[in-house]
Amino acid sequence: MTTPPSFWSPVVGTLVPYVPGEQPRVDGLVKLNTNENPYPPSPRAIAAISAAAREGLERYPDPESTVLRQTLAAHHGVNAGQVFVGNGSDEVLGLAFFAFFQHAGQPLLFADVTYSFYRVYCGLFGIAPQLVPLDAALGVDVDALAARAAAPHAGIVIANPNAPTGIGLPLAQIERLLAASPHRVVLVDEAYVDFGGGSAIGLVDRHPNLLVVHTLSKSRSLAGLRVGFAVGQRPLIDALERVKNSFNSYPLDRLAQAGAIAAYEDAAYFDKTRAAVIDSREGLTLQLEDLGFEVLPSQANFVFVRHAAHDAAALAASLRERKVLVRHFRQPERIAQYLRISIGTPGQCDALVQALTRVIASS
Ligand SMILES: *Cc1c(COP(=O)(O)O)cnc(C)c1O
Repeated sequence: MTTPPSFWSPVVGTLVPYVPGEQPRVDGLVKLNTNENPYPPSPRAIAAISAAAREGLERYPDPESTVLRQTLAAHHGVNAGQVFVGNGSDEVLGLAFFAFFQHAGQPLLFADVTYSFYRVYCGLFGIAPQLVPLDAALGVDVDALAARAAAPHAGIVIANPNAPTGIGLPLAQIERLLAASPHRVVLVDEAYVDFGGGSAIGLVDRHPNLLVVHTLSKSRSLAGLRVGFAVGQRPLIDALERVKNSFNSYPLDRLAQAGAIAAYEDAAYFDKTRAAVIDSREGLTLQLEDLGFEVLPSQANFVFVRHAAHDAAALAASLRERKVLVRHFRQPERIAQYLRISIGTPGQCDALVQALTRVIASS
């Protein structure tokens, strides 16, 4: 990189920004690279967004997103004061890293293979990451995390189910981490929990150090709307509110608040679409295994796979030529031979399997 211009704050030149999966504008692409939901949002959410667009956009939105927080609280069996909402869970995570993990000289503990945004926030806020390697089966190593938490540390972050592996931890293991780090926040990112995992939200009342983060981008099909939230005891939510109100009082616009509320009110649609995704995941897993792939056990809306006889980067490139997009991470080395494939509609899964069958037969 060239020398940063003198206009930049010096830290800007040191940042290593997150690189999202590509969002190409190409017709007919089978897009299985960013874990979006293959189904559109609830029609009720779309209707609520349209109605919100017709009425009141000249006025600021409710800065506290009160009705949305009440809706989320009722759904998850907590009270509205225990819910914090943000512009996508990435923003909630960023505010949480700022609020809880800046403890001079003390590292933040998380897995070496997990959501890569965690490292980006560490860079932004000057937090030292301490990467704790996954175990041999690519599961989160709770023993190693708990052992490390005996020494001074800034907190623990885990994605459950983990990304990009899809492997989930039972709640008893989350409770072990909570007990191992009683004086620091344990942040559990449950972006994929609705596809088969167990949520730690039920543990919030017993654990003052637990913060659970959710998104509406995956299981609620609202990646384009940008809504995420956190659940925790009041002192944690208070800290998040203080940081948010020192940065942006109105993170959720009127359309986002209206759409998110309506999406949560349409429980039948949610159940139907997530069941369809889970069903497709189970079917696709068997088909991929028939093609010779090793498929990690997934509780998410994607599978993490490798093939003993085919290089992952080459497979991803061949699939791309056939208009099928999947995600390949070159780093870390340990996962460089895996592909992360989001679960599509049955038609998209079929297109993937057909393309893979041809690629494998022709090489
Ligand atoms: C997708 C994802 C997020 C981000 O969700 P947004 O609400 O769209 O910002 C956060 N954490 C994990 C693990 C994810 O996979």
